[in-house]
Amino acid sequence: QSRNEKPPLKILLCSPRGFCAGVVRAIDAVERALAVYGAPVYVRHEIVHNRYVVEALKAKGAIFVEALAEVPNTEAPVIFSAHGVPKSVSAEAAGRNLLAIDATCPLVTKVHREAEIHHRRGRRVLLVGHAGHPEVVGTMGQLPEGAVMLIESVADVEALALGEEENLAYATQTTLSLDDSQEVIGALTKRFPNIVGPHKEDICYATTNRQAAVKRVAPQVDAVLVVGSPNSSNSQRLREVAERSGAPARLVQGRSEIDWKVFGSVRRLGITAGASAPEVLVEEIMDAFAERFEITVETISAADENVSFPLPRELRAIA
Ligand code: SF4
Repeated sequence: QSRNEKPPLKILLCSPRGFCAGVVRAIDAVERALAVYGAPVYVRHEIVHNRYVVEALKAKGAIFVEALAEVPNTEAPVIFSAHGVPKSVSAEAAGRNLLAIDATCPLVTKVHREAEIHHRRGRRVLLVGHAGHPEVVGTMGQLPEGAVMLIESVADVEALALGEEENLAYATQTTLSLDDSQEVIGALTKRFPNIVGPHKEDICYATTNRQAAVKRVAPQVDAVLVVGSPNSSNSQRLREVAERSGAPARLVQGRSEIDWKVFGSVRRLGITAGASAPEVLVEEIMDAFAERFEITVETISAADENVSFPLPRELRAIA
């Protein structure tokens, strides 16, 4: 082998990966609002959990805030992120006459409506999810304080101080690990045989398909790279699913975060991207590998996706 020859690397590219329909819609909403109203446009919380996306929108005139209190009384619109918001936030915006545009993913809104229906029917709602994630905060905030109990683990199910006869229902965060949530739901239905669940799974199609592709790829490779931000729930779950399927996995936000001590010696590599990670970051990472290796790429597909959502109602008429 001459000194200039690069070692071979086979890349198995997971499909589907990256942007889901809810993320495309939320980013489109900010861009559309910027085009219609001009800068600045306020966005409550990162529109989707990806640093690259947020920085790109900031450069176009979006101002990101964590609380509506940071939005001045202005004609400029304020957009709610794809993760959804508690009812108190919509009420605060209405009370201040802010022009609110709700970019909550319709699949999150579906869970909100389910929680409300359960509550109206007198059921106590148990939400399976991760404490502190904005989607969980938003879903819990659809009902009055204390009406939703958060369940994070099987241990939480066992510790519940509820009788078998209670009128119960459960809902879940949309981006959970399918395997973990099955365990928790299994424990719930075992302990409370009459508990009511969703008609159709709350974990969304994008989470399901991305995890299925990683499960297929991980056993065939030396390591997996997940492109995504650390605060992205579905990206973290992809990393866990890869590791449980037998491949060491790392989450990276871009090529500068690749740990070459780990990835410099792999011969077969899996790559996927979380639902909020743009494809340009995957391409940049493939380029980084191509500089060091002679790469061949194969796409491993677990599902075809053709989901899309219309823009938020507030933008449809003027879009
Ligand atoms: Fe919607 Fe699922 Fe995408 Fe979240 S991951 S924005 S629930 S499609």
